[in-house]
Amino acid sequence: MRYPKIREIVEALVSLFTRAYTTKYPQEPHVPEESFRGKPVVDDENCVGCETCANVCPSLAITFRDDKERKIRIIERDYGKCIFCGQCEEHCITGKGVKLSDKIYDLATFDRKSLKEIQEKELLICESCGAIITTKEHMLYLHSKLGPKAYASILNLNLLNEKLRLAESEDVKVSVRDELKRKDMFNIVCPNCLRRILVKYL
Ligand code: SF4
Ligand code: SF4
Repeated sequence: MRYPKIREIVEALVSLFTRAYTTKYPQEPHVPEESFRGKPVVDDENCVGCETCANVCPSLAITFRDDKERKIRIIERDYGKCIFCGQCEEHCITGKGVKLSDKIYDLATFDRKSLKEIQEKELLICESCGAIITTKEHMLYLHSKLGPKAYASILNLNLLNEKLRLAESEDVKVSVRDELKRKDMFNIVCPNCLRRILVKYL
């Protein structure tokens, strides 16, 4: 076309004298709306490593791996995959383990690996069969929620003994034998082994 269209000239003039729709980030800080959903931020003190958030995350941004040798659960959160849906915050069992922040542009990077965060939590492992029960913090959290009812579970009682330092001495700690004995119920055993002891001896 030889001459520019009149409509395009008008549009160019209008946009020249009106305010920009885009923000000036990073020259100016980004001011989000009230309900803005940004990067999830984990509060390690209030996260018990229960796996619930990984199960509800639609983009598989949260993964868990249990290392039996080191007795730890490794939780990896990859914010490069996060779609800021807020499901992890909504379903967190403690209600405080993860909260969405209002930061999102700060995630821009050329190195995707820098968007990964790792957490580690101590695992509870059955001293009889070696099955992974859950994390220690998860069990203590359940104990605090159940109150006195938690004493119905021998596993919880053992943990409480440990907290009160009653189980620190080797004299107090009972060793698990090849054949499960009645007194093995006072060790950390999984629900399956505990059931076997209870059925056999009670
Ligand atoms: S905000 Fe959504 S996508 Fe991001 S980690 Fe939480 S559950 Fe997964
Ligand atoms: S649901 Fe909450 S407590 Fe459980 S692992 Fe996720 S952030 Fe931690």
